[in-house]
Amino acid sequence: MAQITLKNIAHSYMEDPSKEADYALKEVDHVWRDGEAYALLGPSGCGKTTLLNIVSGLLRPSHGRVLFDGQDVTDMPTAERNIAQVFQFPVVYDTMTVRENLAFPLKNRGVEAATITERVQRVASMIGMERELDRKARGLTADAKQKISLGRGMVRDDVNALLFDEPLTVIDPHMKWELRTQLKHLHGQFGHTMIYVTHDQTEALTFADHVVVMHDGRVVQIGTPEELFERPAHTFVGYFIGSPGMNLLPAEVQGDRAIIDGHEVPLGAGYGDMSGKVEIGIRPEFVRLSDDVGLPVTIDRVEDVGRHRLVRTTMQGRPINIIASEGGPVPSENARITFDPSRINIYADDWRVEGRAV
Ligand code: ADP
Ligand code: MG
Repeated sequence: MAQITLKNIAHSYMEDPSKEADYALKEVDHVWRDGEAYALLGPSGCGKTTLLNIVSGLLRPSHGRVLFDGQDVTDMPTAERNIAQVFQFPVVYDTMTVRENLAFPLKNRGVEAATITERVQRVASMIGMERELDRKARGLTADAKQKISLGRGMVRDDVNALLFDEPLTVIDPHMKWELRTQLKHLHGQFGHTMIYVTHDQTEALTFADHVVVMHDGRVVQIGTPEELFERPAHTFVGYFIGSPGMNLLPAEVQGDRAIIDGHEVPLGAGYGDMSGKVEIGIRPEFVRLSDDVGLPVTIDRVEDVGRHRLVRTTMQGRPINIIASEGGPVPSENARITFDPSRINIYADDWRVEGRAV
Protein backbone atom coordinates (compact mmCIF):
# COMPACT_ATOMS: atom_id res chain seq x y z
CA MET A 1 0.00 0.00 0.00
CA ALA A 2 1.13 3.50 -0.62
CA GLN A 3 0.42 7.14 -0.15
CA ILE A 4 -0.03 8.68 -3.59
CA THR A 5 0.89 12.31 -4.15
CA LEU A 6 -0.12 14.32 -7.20
CA LYS A 7 2.13 17.38 -7.43
CA ASN A 8 0.87 20.15 -9.71
CA ILE A 9 -0.55 17.63 -12.14
CA ALA A 10 -2.21 18.92 -15.30
CA HIS A 11 -3.02 17.19 -18.53
CA SER A 12 -3.91 18.18 -22.06
CA TYR A 13 -4.60 15.70 -24.84
CA MET A 14 -3.50 18.36 -27.32
CA GLU A 15 -0.01 18.54 -28.66
CA ASP A 16 0.40 22.22 -28.12
CA PRO A 17 -2.00 23.42 -25.42
CA SER A 18 -2.08 27.19 -25.04
CA LYS A 19 -5.08 28.11 -22.92
CA GLU A 20 -6.75 26.67 -19.84
CA ALA A 21 -9.63 25.23 -21.86
CA ASP A 22 -7.11 23.03 -23.71
CA TYR A 23 -6.53 21.06 -20.52
CA ALA A 24 -8.76 18.07 -19.73
CA LEU A 25 -7.26 18.24 -16.26
CA LYS A 26 -6.50 21.64 -14.80
CA GLU A 27 -3.93 21.82 -12.05
CA VAL A 28 -4.48 19.22 -9.33
CA ASP A 29 -2.48 19.01 -6.13
CA HIS A 30 -3.62 16.17 -3.99
CA VAL A 31 -2.51 13.47 -1.58
CA TRP A 32 -4.35 10.14 -1.49
CA ARG A 33 -3.57 8.96 2.00
CA ASP A 34 -2.29 5.46 2.53
CA GLY A 35 -5.05 3.00 3.30
CA GLU A 36 -8.01 5.33 2.70
CA ALA A 37 -10.99 4.66 0.46
CA TYR A 38 -11.82 7.55 -1.83
CA ALA A 39 -14.58 8.11 -4.31
CA LEU A 40 -13.81 10.30 -7.29
CA LEU A 41 -17.15 11.80 -8.27
CA GLY A 42 -18.19 14.01 -11.16
CA PRO A 43 -20.25 14.07 -14.34
CA SER A 44 -19.14 12.46 -17.57
CA GLY A 45 -16.25 14.30 -19.21
CA CYS A 46 -14.99 16.11 -16.11
CA GLY A 47 -11.61 14.34 -16.14
CA LYS A 48 -12.01 11.38 -13.74
CA THR A 49 -10.53 8.74 -16.05
CA THR A 50 -7.73 11.10 -17.03
CA LEU A 51 -6.80 11.55 -13.38
CA LEU A 52 -7.04 7.83 -12.62
CA ASN A 53 -4.91 6.89 -15.62
CA ILE A 54 -2.25 9.33 -14.48
CA VAL A 55 -2.15 7.57 -11.11
CA SER A 56 -1.86 4.14 -12.73
CA GLY A 57 0.64 5.28 -15.35
CA LEU A 58 -1.49 4.59 -18.43
CA LEU A 59 -1.16 8.29 -19.11
CA ARG A 60 1.85 10.52 -18.62
CA PRO A 61 0.74 13.97 -17.37
CA SER A 62 1.67 17.05 -19.41
CA HIS A 63 2.80 18.71 -16.18
CA GLY A 64 3.64 17.72 -12.65
CA ARG A 65 4.87 14.66 -10.82
CA VAL A 66 3.31 11.53 -9.33
CA LEU A 67 4.87 10.15 -6.14
CA PHE A 68 4.26 6.81 -4.42
CA ASP A 69 5.41 7.01 -0.80
CA GLY A 70 7.60 9.93 -1.75
CA GLN A 71 9.24 8.16 -4.70
CA ASP A 72 8.82 9.79 -8.09
CA VAL A 73 7.04 7.33 -10.40
CA THR A 74 6.03 9.78 -13.14
CA ASP A 75 8.09 7.96 -15.73
CA MET A 76 7.51 4.49 -14.37
CA PRO A 77 5.32 2.21 -16.52
CA THR A 78 2.05 0.84 -15.17
CA ALA A 79 3.39 -2.67 -14.71
CA GLU A 80 6.05 -1.46 -12.30
CA ARG A 81 3.67 0.62 -10.22
CA ASN A 82 2.15 -2.44 -8.65
CA ILE A 83 -1.43 -1.32 -9.03
CA ALA A 84 -4.67 -3.13 -9.74
CA GLN A 85 -7.05 -1.27 -12.03
CA VAL A 86 -10.58 -2.25 -12.98
CA PHE A 87 -12.13 -0.54 -15.96
CA GLN A 88 -15.68 0.33 -16.93
CA PHE A 89 -15.90 -2.56 -19.37
CA PRO A 90 -14.69 -6.12 -18.88
CA VAL A 91 -11.12 -7.10 -19.70
CA VAL A 92 -10.98 -10.91 -19.56
CA TYR A 93 -9.25 -13.70 -21.41
CA ASP A 94 -12.03 -15.43 -23.31
CA THR A 95 -10.16 -18.69 -23.83
CA MET A 96 -9.38 -19.10 -20.13
CA THR A 97 -11.75 -20.40 -17.51
CA VAL A 98 -13.07 -18.11 -14.80
CA ARG A 99 -10.62 -19.74 -12.39
CA GLU A 100 -7.66 -19.14 -14.72
CA ASN A 101 -8.71 -15.55 -15.23
CA LEU A 102 -8.88 -14.92 -11.50
CA ALA A 103 -5.58 -16.68 -10.90
CA PHE A 104 -3.76 -14.83 -13.65
CA PRO A 105 -2.43 -11.82 -11.68
CA LEU A 106 -1.12 -14.21 -9.00
CA LYS A 107 0.44 -16.71 -11.43
CA ASN A 108 2.12 -13.83 -13.14
CA ARG A 109 3.84 -12.94 -9.90
CA GLY A 110 4.91 -16.47 -9.09
CA VAL A 111 2.59 -16.90 -6.13
CA GLU A 112 2.57 -20.51 -4.92
CA ALA A 113 -0.25 -22.81 -5.95
CA ALA A 114 -1.87 -23.31 -2.53
CA THR A 115 -2.14 -19.57 -1.97
CA ILE A 116 -3.59 -19.12 -5.46
CA THR A 117 -6.28 -21.73 -4.81
CA GLU A 118 -7.22 -20.11 -1.54
CA ARG A 119 -7.33 -16.54 -2.92
CA VAL A 120 -9.25 -17.51 -6.04
CA GLN A 121 -11.81 -19.25 -3.86
CA ARG A 122 -12.16 -16.19 -1.64
CA VAL A 123 -12.60 -13.81 -4.56
CA ALA A 124 -15.00 -16.16 -6.36
CA SER A 125 -17.24 -16.09 -3.35
CA MET A 126 -17.05 -12.29 -3.14
CA ILE A 127 -18.22 -11.91 -6.72
CA GLY A 128 -20.70 -14.76 -6.45
CA MET A 129 -19.08 -16.97 -9.13
CA GLU A 130 -18.00 -20.06 -7.20
CA ARG A 131 -20.19 -22.29 -9.33
CA GLU A 132 -18.83 -20.98 -12.63
CA LEU A 133 -15.13 -21.36 -11.84
CA ASP A 134 -14.50 -24.02 -14.46
CA ARG A 135 -16.45 -22.41 -17.26
CA LYS A 136 -14.67 -20.66 -20.10
CA ALA A 137 -15.10 -16.88 -19.97
CA ARG A 138 -16.25 -16.93 -23.59
CA GLY A 139 -20.02 -17.00 -23.72
CA LEU A 140 -20.54 -15.46 -20.31
CA THR A 141 -22.66 -12.30 -20.13
CA ALA A 142 -21.02 -8.86 -19.98
CA ASP A 143 -22.19 -8.68 -16.40
CA ALA A 144 -20.41 -11.93 -15.45
CA LYS A 145 -17.28 -10.88 -17.32
CA GLN A 146 -17.19 -7.61 -15.44
CA LYS A 147 -17.44 -9.52 -12.18
CA ILE A 148 -14.37 -11.49 -13.26
CA SER A 149 -12.57 -8.21 -13.98
CA LEU A 150 -13.48 -7.00 -10.51
CA GLY A 151 -12.30 -10.27 -9.02
CA ARG A 152 -9.00 -10.00 -10.85
CA GLY A 153 -8.58 -6.51 -9.43
CA MET A 154 -9.20 -7.76 -5.91
CA VAL A 155 -7.26 -11.01 -5.95
CA ARG A 156 -3.86 -9.65 -4.94
CA ASP A 157 -3.39 -8.21 -1.49
CA ASP A 158 0.09 -6.76 -2.03
CA VAL A 159 -0.82 -3.90 -4.38
CA ASN A 160 0.04 -0.23 -3.83
CA ALA A 161 -3.49 0.80 -4.66
CA LEU A 162 -6.74 -0.45 -6.12
CA LEU A 163 -8.28 1.74 -8.80
CA PHE A 164 -11.83 1.29 -10.01
CA ASP A 165 -13.11 3.25 -12.99
CA GLU A 166 -16.92 3.10 -12.93
CA PRO A 167 -16.67 -0.67 -12.53
CA LEU A 168 -20.36 -1.34 -11.97
CA THR A 169 -21.69 0.31 -15.14
CA VAL A 170 -22.58 -2.98 -16.85
CA ILE A 171 -23.62 -4.77 -13.64
CA ASP A 172 -27.32 -5.28 -13.00
CA PRO A 173 -28.75 -2.94 -10.33
CA HIS A 174 -29.41 -5.62 -7.75
CA MET A 175 -25.84 -6.93 -7.89
CA LYS A 176 -24.37 -3.41 -7.78
CA TRP A 177 -25.24 -2.98 -4.15
CA GLU A 178 -23.85 -6.38 -3.29
CA LEU A 179 -20.53 -5.79 -5.06
CA ARG A 180 -20.12 -2.33 -3.55
CA THR A 181 -20.61 -3.87 -0.13
CA GLN A 182 -17.95 -6.46 -0.95
CA LEU A 183 -15.51 -3.76 -2.00
CA LYS A 184 -16.10 -1.90 1.25
CA HIS A 185 -15.60 -5.11 3.13
CA LEU A 186 -12.36 -5.77 1.27
CA HIS A 187 -11.17 -2.31 2.23
CA GLY A 188 -12.02 -2.92 5.86
CA GLN A 189 -10.13 -6.21 5.77
CA PHE A 190 -6.95 -5.25 3.90
CA GLY A 191 -6.88 -1.47 4.12
CA HIS A 192 -5.72 -0.84 0.56
CA THR A 193 -5.56 2.67 -0.77
CA MET A 194 -8.64 2.67 -3.00
CA ILE A 195 -9.88 5.14 -5.56
CA TYR A 196 -13.36 4.46 -6.85
CA VAL A 197 -14.51 6.54 -9.81
CA THR A 198 -18.20 7.12 -10.33
CA HIS A 199 -20.66 9.69 -11.67
CA ASP A 200 -23.32 8.43 -9.26
CA GLN A 201 -23.50 10.34 -5.99
CA THR A 202 -25.24 7.52 -4.11
CA GLU A 203 -22.46 5.16 -5.07
CA ALA A 204 -19.80 7.68 -4.02
CA LEU A 205 -21.42 8.60 -0.74
CA THR A 206 -22.04 5.01 0.31
CA PHE A 207 -18.65 3.68 -0.73
CA ALA A 208 -16.17 6.19 0.57
CA ASP A 209 -15.23 8.11 3.68
CA HIS A 210 -13.75 10.83 1.51
CA VAL A 211 -15.31 12.02 -1.69
CA VAL A 212 -13.29 13.99 -4.23
CA VAL A 213 -15.66 16.00 -6.40
CA MET A 214 -14.53 17.02 -9.88
CA HIS A 215 -16.05 19.57 -12.20
CA ASP A 216 -14.72 20.66 -15.55
CA GLY A 217 -11.21 19.28 -15.08
CA ARG A 218 -10.82 20.53 -11.53
CA VAL A 219 -11.08 19.06 -8.07
CA VAL A 220 -13.62 21.40 -6.49
CA GLN A 221 -14.00 19.78 -3.07
CA ILE A 222 -12.69 16.90 -1.01
CA GLY A 223 -14.83 16.07 1.94
CA THR A 224 -16.90 13.64 3.90
CA PRO A 225 -20.47 13.10 2.72
CA GLU A 226 -21.61 15.39 5.56
CA GLU A 227 -19.28 18.19 4.52
CA LEU A 228 -20.43 17.98 0.92
CA PHE A 229 -24.01 18.16 2.06
CA GLU A 230 -23.67 20.89 4.66
CA ARG A 231 -20.92 23.09 3.31
CA PRO A 232 -20.53 22.65 -0.44
CA ALA A 233 -17.34 24.51 -1.34
CA HIS A 234 -18.55 25.31 -4.85
CA THR A 235 -22.02 25.88 -6.28
CA PHE A 236 -21.45 22.85 -8.50
CA VAL A 237 -21.11 20.58 -5.44
CA GLY A 238 -24.29 22.06 -3.99
CA TYR A 239 -26.18 21.39 -7.16
CA PHE A 240 -24.64 18.00 -8.01
CA ILE A 241 -24.97 16.42 -4.55
CA GLY A 242 -28.43 15.96 -3.11
CA SER A 243 -31.71 15.14 -4.74
CA PRO A 244 -32.73 17.58 -5.71
CA GLY A 245 -29.59 19.68 -5.31
CA MET A 246 -29.12 22.93 -3.45
CA ASN A 247 -31.25 25.93 -4.38
CA LEU A 248 -29.18 28.86 -5.58
CA LEU A 249 -30.53 32.39 -5.71
CA PRO A 250 -28.84 35.61 -6.74
CA ALA A 251 -28.73 37.95 -3.76
CA GLU A 252 -27.25 41.10 -2.39
CA VAL A 253 -25.45 40.52 0.86
CA GLN A 254 -24.93 43.19 3.48
CA GLY A 255 -23.41 41.98 6.72
CA ASP A 256 -25.67 39.36 8.19
CA ARG A 257 -28.60 39.94 5.83
CA ALA A 258 -29.30 39.02 2.25
CA ILE A 259 -31.72 40.82 -0.01
CA ILE A 260 -33.47 38.65 -2.58
CA ASP A 261 -35.84 40.44 -4.94
CA GLY A 262 -36.30 43.18 -2.35
CA HIS A 263 -37.03 40.76 0.49
CA GLU A 264 -34.76 40.57 3.48
CA VAL A 265 -33.40 37.18 4.53
CA PRO A 266 -31.49 36.83 7.83
CA LEU A 267 -28.21 34.95 7.59
CA GLY A 268 -26.63 32.88 10.35
CA ALA A 269 -23.30 34.69 10.00
CA GLY A 270 -21.76 38.00 8.91
CA TYR A 271 -20.19 38.50 5.49
CA GLY A 272 -19.39 42.22 5.29
CA ASP A 273 -20.44 43.91 2.07
CA MET A 274 -20.03 41.66 -0.92
CA SER A 275 -19.87 42.54 -4.59
CA GLY A 276 -19.71 40.65 -7.88
CA LYS A 277 -21.74 37.50 -8.50
CA VAL A 278 -23.22 36.68 -5.10
CA GLU A 279 -25.60 33.78 -4.49
CA ILE A 280 -27.28 32.27 -1.52
CA GLY A 281 -27.42 28.49 -1.36
CA ILE A 282 -30.00 26.62 0.67
CA ARG A 283 -30.78 22.92 0.44
CA PRO A 284 -34.44 21.91 -0.10
CA GLU A 285 -34.31 20.19 3.31
CA PHE A 286 -33.90 23.55 5.05
CA VAL A 287 -36.59 25.58 3.30
CA ARG A 288 -39.85 25.96 5.23
CA LEU A 289 -43.29 26.80 3.99
CA SER A 290 -44.98 29.60 5.88
CA ASP A 291 -48.37 31.33 5.76
CA ASP A 292 -47.38 34.87 6.42
CA VAL A 293 -43.64 35.57 6.47
CA GLY A 294 -40.79 35.12 4.01
CA LEU A 295 -40.31 35.13 0.26
CA PRO A 296 -43.39 34.80 -1.94
CA VAL A 297 -43.35 31.78 -4.25
CA THR A 298 -45.69 30.12 -6.69
CA ILE A 299 -46.28 26.42 -6.10
CA ASP A 300 -46.00 24.47 -9.33
CA ARG A 301 -46.09 20.84 -8.30
CA VAL A 302 -46.06 18.55 -5.27
CA GLU A 303 -44.40 15.13 -5.62
CA ASP A 304 -44.44 12.27 -3.16
CA VAL A 305 -40.92 11.01 -2.54
CA GLY A 306 -40.86 8.27 0.04
CA ARG A 307 -41.50 9.71 3.46
CA HIS A 308 -41.34 13.30 2.24
CA ARG A 309 -42.97 15.57 -0.22
CA LEU A 310 -41.02 17.50 -2.78
CA VAL A 311 -42.63 20.87 -3.42
CA ARG A 312 -41.53 22.53 -6.64
CA THR A 313 -41.96 26.26 -6.57
CA THR A 314 -40.77 29.29 -8.48
CA MET A 315 -39.91 32.78 -7.38
CA GLN A 316 -39.92 35.29 -10.22
CA GLY A 317 -39.41 32.37 -12.59
CA ARG A 318 -36.49 30.90 -10.66
CA PRO A 319 -37.00 27.36 -9.31
CA ILE A 320 -36.88 26.74 -5.56
CA ASN A 321 -37.37 23.17 -4.35
CA ILE A 322 -38.62 22.38 -0.88
CA ILE A 323 -38.63 19.08 0.97
CA ALA A 324 -41.65 19.12 3.24
CA SER A 325 -42.71 16.53 5.78
CA GLU A 326 -45.58 14.30 4.83
CA GLY A 327 -48.03 15.59 7.40
CA GLY A 328 -47.81 19.38 7.04
CA PRO A 329 -50.21 21.37 4.88
CA VAL A 330 -49.04 22.60 1.48
CA PRO A 331 -50.88 25.62 0.09
CA SER A 332 -52.24 25.07 -3.40
CA GLU A 333 -50.97 28.07 -5.32
CA ASN A 334 -49.13 30.81 -3.53
CA ALA A 335 -47.03 30.52 -0.42
CA ARG A 336 -44.20 32.09 1.45
CA ILE A 337 -40.96 30.42 2.36
CA THR A 338 -38.27 30.93 4.98
CA PHE A 339 -34.76 29.53 5.26
CA ASP A 340 -33.05 28.09 8.31
CA PRO A 341 -30.33 30.80 8.74
CA SER A 342 -27.74 28.35 10.10
CA ARG A 343 -28.06 26.25 6.93
CA ILE A 344 -27.48 29.03 4.45
CA ASN A 345 -24.25 29.08 2.45
CA ILE A 346 -23.02 32.17 0.64
CA TYR A 347 -21.17 32.02 -2.69
CA ALA A 348 -19.08 34.62 -4.46
CA ASP A 349 -18.26 33.73 -8.07
CA ASP A 350 -19.38 30.16 -7.30
CA TRP A 351 -17.00 29.60 -4.36
CA ARG A 352 -18.25 29.39 -0.79
CA VAL A 353 -17.42 32.28 1.51
CA GLU A 354 -16.96 31.53 5.20
CA GLY A 355 -19.06 33.84 7.38
CA ARG A 356 -18.08 35.29 10.71
CA ALA A 357 -20.09 34.45 13.79
CA VAL A 358 -22.51 37.24 14.72
P1 ADP B 1 -14.55 11.27 -17.36
O1 ADP B 1 -13.82 10.01 -17.05
O2 ADP B 1 -14.80 12.11 -16.15
O3 ADP B 1 -15.81 11.04 -18.13
P2 ADP B 1 -12.31 11.83 -19.13
O4 ADP B 1 -11.11 11.92 -18.25
O5 ADP B 1 -12.49 10.57 -19.89
O6 ADP B 1 -13.61 12.19 -18.28
O7 ADP B 1 -12.27 13.01 -20.17
C1 ADP B 1 -12.00 14.36 -19.83
C2 ADP B 1 -11.96 15.19 -21.10
O8 ADP B 1 -10.87 14.78 -21.90
C3 ADP B 1 -13.20 15.05 -21.97
O9 ADP B 1 -13.48 16.30 -22.53
C4 ADP B 1 -12.77 14.06 -23.03
O10 ADP B 1 -13.46 14.28 -24.22
C5 ADP B 1 -11.29 14.35 -23.19
N1 ADP B 1 -10.53 13.14 -23.54
C6 ADP B 1 -10.49 11.98 -22.85
N2 ADP B 1 -9.67 11.08 -23.43
C7 ADP B 1 -9.17 11.69 -24.53
C8 ADP B 1 -8.26 11.30 -25.55
N3 ADP B 1 -7.69 10.09 -25.57
N4 ADP B 1 -7.99 12.20 -26.52
C9 ADP B 1 -8.55 13.42 -26.52
N5 ADP B 1 -9.41 13.86 -25.59
C10 ADP B 1 -9.72 13.02 -24.60
MG1 MG C 1 -14.36 8.03 -17.41
